[in-house]
Amino acid sequence: MSTSLSPIPFVDLNRQHQAIKAELTSAIQTVVDAGWFILGPQVEAFEHEFAQYSDAAYCVGVGNGLDAIQLLLRAYGIGPGDEVIVPSNTFIATWLAVSDVGATPVAVEPDRLTHNIDPAAIEQAITPRTKCIIPVHLYGQPADMDPINAIADKHKLVVIEDNAQAQGALYKGRKTGSLGHAAATSFYPGKNLGAMGDGGAVVTSDAQIADRVRVLRNYGSKQKYVHLEKGENSRLDELQAAILRVKLRHLDECNTQRRTLAAQYSQQLASLSVKTPFVPEWAQPVWHLYVVESDQRDALQAHLAKAQIQTVIHYPIPPHQQACYAQTHGGLEFPIAEAVAGRVLSLPLFPGMRDDEVHRVTQSIVQFTR
Ligand SMILES: *Cc1c(COP(=O)(O)O)cnc(C)c1O
Repeated sequence: MSTSLSPIPFVDLNRQHQAIKAELTSAIQTVVDAGWFILGPQVEAFEHEFAQYSDAAYCVGVGNGLDAIQLLLRAYGIGPGDEVIVPSNTFIATWLAVSDVGATPVAVEPDRLTHNIDPAAIEQAITPRTKCIIPVHLYGQPADMDPINAIADKHKLVVIEDNAQAQGALYKGRKTGSLGHAAATSFYPGKNLGAMGDGGAVVTSDAQIADRVRVLRNYGSKQKYVHLEKGENSRLDELQAAILRVKLRHLDECNTQRRTLAAQYSQQLASLSVKTPFVPEWAQPVWHLYVVESDQRDALQAHLAKAQIQTVIHYPIPPHQQACYAQTHGGLEFPIAEAVAGRVLSLPLFPGMRDDEVHRVTQSIVQFTR
């Protein structure tokens, strides 16, 4: 019988896009008609609108989220010989940006309940070489920024938020992306604010840093063919910016839908043996991912797959156990990150997902736990 059920995808971007197809098509048409594709009016307008949305003074559009972090590190002058504190439990891009500038990622374990960096564990990782902390608002849940900022103040460290998964989330009523010295975000299509290709941005209220990133993203040049430093080519393009301007207008409504779906999951999965996400009272997450924990994660995933329900593991291997970090971090142990990687499972959750689909997922989990 289960084979006759229609599959429930992990994410279906089509449902979100079909609902606003006319707006998207018209935005794309505008760029085609303008015939201007790199660093033009769409990027400029989007930067203005996204800075405003983020409660920050400046936004600089760049090529992707990894570049956004990396360009910020460069703008702050962080490089070889420096250490940067990163979560042991994150997508590898957070680490790679640090490695890209020649600095060393120093991992700190997550809080067992929130899966976000544990502020109480940060101070013991600080050395005279530490320059920066990169908290990640993982799964769309804000990290506990007040104690992180207090530690950074005390040790004179830069705080760069990795806000790739949390556009629109609130920490004590304040927007993520406005809580540190600067923030990096990603517009990879599957993110809460996703483009139709790659894209990213830096957000900050520091005029000097915004200016540095603006120069670095465009060949180290302010004036065409005059190069102040060895910059890069990492620009958000006009087409993506035009699309993002449309999607930004719908972001809050999409995040509200995600909150409703997450609330349904948490209610329907309460009192089962799978652990539903913990939300601190100061957090208003935007549910980029709805992540449960189970002692029998692999069996649960197989059971759901048999019922045509697609799930994903974020993330199956922590960065320090990846082959690319074997030489520098291979001998280290991060037991909490390792335990989390063995237990987490992300359930389908996306704007346009229907109540009956959530119900089918939770019923299938009930069946598994019986
Ligand atoms: C997606 C993501 C990135 C990188 O963004 P890209 O646009 O794919 O380069 C960085 N950090 C986190 C936490 C992410 O989820």
